Amino acid sequence: MADDLNPFENAQQQFDEAVSQMQLDKGIIAILREPERVLTVNLPIKMDNGEVKVFTGFRSQHSHARGPCKGGIRYHPGVTIDEVKALSMWMTWKCAVVDIPFGGGKGGIILNPKELSKAEIERLSRAYMRAMAPIVGPDRDVPAPDVYTNAQIMDWMRDEYEKVTGKSALAVITGKSVGKGGSKGRTTATAMGGVFVLEEAVKQIDVKKTVAIQGFGNVGSIAARLLAERGYKIVAVSDSKGGIYNPKGIHLDEAEAHKKKTKVLKGCHDCKIISNEELLELDVGILIPAALENQITEKNAHKIKAKIILELANGPTTPEADAILYKKEIVVIPDVLANAGGVTVSYFEWLQNREDKYWDEKEVNKRLSEIMRKAFKDIFGVCNGKNCHMRVAAYLLAIEKVAKAVEEKLK
Ligand code: NAD
Repeated sequence: MADDLNPFENAQQQFDEAVSQMQLDKGIIAILREPERVLTVNLPIKMDNGEVKVFTGFRSQHSHARGPCKGGIRYHPGVTIDEVKALSMWMTWKCAVVDIPFGGGKGGIILNPKELSKAEIERLSRAYMRAMAPIVGPDRDVPAPDVYTNAQIMDWMRDEYEKVTGKSALAVITGKSVGKGGSKGRTTATAMGGVFVLEEAVKQIDVKKTVAIQGFGNVGSIAARLLAERGYKIVAVSDSKGGIYNPKGIHLDEAEAHKKKTKVLKGCHDCKIISNEELLELDVGILIPAALENQITEKNAHKIKAKIILELANGPTTPEADAILYKKEIVVIPDVLANAGGVTVSYFEWLQNREDKYWDEKEVNKRLSEIMRKAFKDIFGVCNGKNCHMRVAAYLLAIEKVAKAVEEKLK
């Protein structure tokens, strides 16, 4: 993330732009412009060598108006309180866009998980959940995985929550392992949801089926696979150490095997090494940011050649860049729609846990497809009616729903 860009200021700027086009009560705007609650915790952890280290973590609950807060937990050295606040606000809009009964939450711990052993990560994850137990719960706030967290970490956290509260609480967290209450299709959900939305977009927009993907983690690598299976050519992918490019198409099995062996994509057979910046500016039909915030800014937006940007990452485009892209007639499918598949299947997991039911993967993907395609059509309809870009349309729809729920609560 560019150091000088504050994601929470971006989130508020996007919100301000949308509400300037609405007739909303000032009090409701003030409520929605800030999170309801932000908790900071300092967690002392005994490291494997006996030394004690203190890690700082956060949880931001932006809005409970439409239901329990929902949102991932990120482990990254760049986590800040403002990043977590921004992500929690985006979660509120995202849940409203796909019309699931949740508000927005987000958590994070400042750490480089690559520098900790598995046992240290387990102790830290359990300590984080002990500190959060008073404010989370199946009816209050339901966390999930995000950058550098996974099903194993969710399993530890659920176990810790149950120990602290003395109650069985499968639905306290989603993104769990399938054998431990997780939903089938959760691992692929974010990428799959993005693919459904993209399929709707290409019905409306004529575009080359070449794709560059920034970020080759849970979301980016699965999106690459799903798109390749559907006839798209993946010409570039990247991770935090840089990217690889092959105009004839990247052999994904080879890229994955190379990454597994060497921990980086760079050096993969038959591919040119490129930087993350160069990847964004490639002459492709579809660009997919699937890493971190603030990657497309006013500095590089005018160099982008893709016709569609599918934001699988949260907050990859700054408001200044949005304006430039809109002028260039590049269609940005905003994060609150593009990556909402993850939270949608998290909702399915929460529902299955509460009803003690298990759906098969076909059922999960069928329901996901219906929700994502409908959300795309709703937003695209608003865009055409109001002549605005998709982010504004998504915000207009979402803020209206959340504002109504806040109004009801104030009565
Ligand atoms: P992940 O940890 O599995 O993968 C992150 C990827 O980004 C890795 O390949 C990493 O090497 C790369 N990366 C890190 N820093 C980078 C940098 N500076 N430049 C380029 N690449 C970099 O995380 P994920 O779960 O795939 O999440 C990726 C994005 O998708 C995040 O913005 C996250 O908030 C968003 N998202 C994830 C989910 C989900 O279900 N996991 C849901 C919605 C949104």
